Formats: sequence, C-alpha cells, structure tokens
Amino acid sequence: MRLDRIGVDESVAAVFPPERLVDRLADAADTDATEGAAADVTAVDGSPESLADCDAVVTLEHREPFLDLEWVHSIQAGVDRFPRERFREAGVVLTNSTGVHGDAVGETVAGFVLALARRVHEYAANQADNEWDRPDWDEAWTVAGERACVVGLGGLGRGIVDRLDGLGLDVDGVRRDPLPEPGVDRVFTVDELRTAVADARFVVLAVPLTDATRGLVGAEELAAMDDEAYLVNVARGGVVDQPALVDALREGEIAGGALDVFETEPLPADSPLWDLDDVIVSPHCAAYTRDYYRHVGAIVEESVRRVAEGDEPVNRVV
Ligand code: NAD
Repeated sequence: MRLDRIGVDESVAAVFPPERLVDRLADAADTDATEGAAADVTAVDGSPESLADCDAVVTLEHREPFLDLEWVHSIQAGVDRFPRERFREAGVVLTNSTGVHGDAVGETVAGFVLALARRVHEYAANQADNEWDRPDWDEAWTVAGERACVVGLGGLGRGIVDRLDGLGLDVDGVRRDPLPEPGVDRVFTVDELRTAVADARFVVLAVPLTDATRGLVGAEELAAMDDEAYLVNVARGGVVDQPALVDALREGEIAGGALDVFETEPLPADSPLWDLDDVIVSPHCAAYTRDYYRHVGAIVEESVRRVAEGDEPVNRVV
C-alpha cells in the first residue's frame, strides 16, 4: 500500500473538529516518526472529487466512494457502520480505533453507576425545575460491595472493570472463552449469560455488535436479572432487544438503566425510554473526550509508520 495523501472526512465533526486531526497528522508527518510516509493530509467531504487524490481516509461514516481507496480508518471501535464484505471484495483495508476508549467509557460508566446509586440524576432533573426535593430515606445507596457483570472484556470492558473495581464493586465478566481476567472475580461464557447477570446490581454491555451479539440481551436475560438491577449499555443499541427492555422497565422487572446507544439514533423524541423512571439517556457520547482526536491521531500515525515499513496498519478489521 502506498500512502501519499490521507483525507479526514467531515463526518468526524460529530466527535471533534476535523481540522484538529488534519493538523495533528500533518505535524506528525513532519517528524522523523513517519519519515517516508504520507506527508499530505487534507479535509474531505466524502465526494469522489474531494477524495480524488487520496489513498486513505479517516472517518466516522461510511461513504460509497471509500470503496475506491486503499485504506479506511474508522474513528470508532465498532465497525458495524461499514459493509465489511464489500470492503473485502473491493480489497480495501478497514481499521478501527479499538483500544483508545477504555478510560473515557470506563469513567462514563462509573459516572452512571454512581449517579444511579447516589441519585445524582434526580437532583439534576429537579434543579431544572428549581425543585428542592430530597429522596426518600431508602432511595439512595452505596455501590461498594455491590456486584457488577461486565459483558465483553475487550478495551472497553477493561476500562470499565478497572473503574468499578476501584469503586469497591465485585466484578464478574462475560466473554466467549472463560479465561481469567485481572480484577474480575468470575468469568462466564456467553452461554452462561443468564447465570452471570442473575446476581448483578449492574449489568454493563461492552461487546461489539455482530451477528452473534445482536439481541444478546432479550426478554429472558432481562427476566433473569434482579428487579433491583440496572442495565448499562455502552456497546450498541442492537445488542439489546429494545422493546423487551421497555417492557422490563415498565413492568419493574429491572430497576432502571443507563443507555448511551439505541437501535435508532438519535433516539426518536417519542421513544418511551426518555420518560421511564431511573433511566439515564445519553446521546452516544460515552467515549467523548477533548483528547479524542489525539488518540485517533496516534493510531493513524502508527499505522502510517507501519505501512511505510511494509507492515500491516494497526487494528486491521478487513
Ligand atoms: P474490543 O475489540 O477491544 O473488545 C471487544 C470484546 O468483545 C473482545 O474482547 C471480544 O472478544 C468480545 N466479543 C466479541 N464478540 C463477543 C461475543 N459474541 N460475546 C462476548 N464477547 C464478545 O472493542 P472495544 O474497544 O472494547 O469496544 C467494544 C464495542 O463497544 C465496540 O465494538 C463498539 O460497538 C462499542 N463502543 C461504544 C462506544 C460508545 O461511545 N458508547 C465507544 C467505544 C466502543
């Protein structure tokens, strides 16, 4: 692969200003670290014209003209937006940004967990109405000694386990192979999911959306959870059967949740999830941090260096 010009697609603007990454990569290209690698980085708008001289693109969205490039880098960890089979057929390399989100998403999940136990979301909602309203005596609780079950122990899962372990929760995990994991008391396989979630106060989803994980948490898994338990989804909306989740919340089968991702995004204004008790809705931003472009830049820079040496780029998916 030859990398003379890399485009930064305007779709990344949903997460950071494209020019930040353009500047970051241009600076890197001027250093010895990427000697002999791409020196030209430019903002593109996804049109064939703007991509005409590009060999590669860094992007949030998929666009058809990308199938004519050599390499596409996703600024997200998940690549469910991209038609992987068509990338394969077209011989286009696809890479992702797995590995950079553990800290940000781990802290977001810690925030959700603390907010739900300490009732912070209620005080914030009351403040919007200038309302001085204390919780009932038995509403607030503390998380130390509670159990969490983290489903998916990759980069995200690791960051979440570290934070929840640090807050004093007992942490279980679920993954395909029951290999031990530091900070995780018990590792269950996916086949054991219902057992794994049964005694958790928080079930945290951190798996990619694949054919195997679509609808992983449905009515039966929700029924297996404790009625005082919360579902935290920072993976993808499709990992959960959303109508079943709404039913479980309405019926009090689970106590609530914190949801960053949804089957349809933005979450439609008429979704019942907006108004259910003890449900925190966030707009798919669990990984947001002002350093996001720096983290993506570091991965791309390393890939450019590797490609210049004839090696594979980092985090190759296709
Ligand atoms: P990763 O590749 O580091 O980890 C994914 C883990 O899931 C791996 O350990 C893998 O073995 C495991 N896994 C895959 N299929 C599984 C299955 N069927 N059952 C159980 N485990 C399975 O990726 P990551 O960085 O941890 O990100 C995971 C996913 O989280 C991404 O694909 C993305 O969809 C989502 N994500 C969301 C946000 C957000 O802002 N909400 C941010 C980053 C990532």
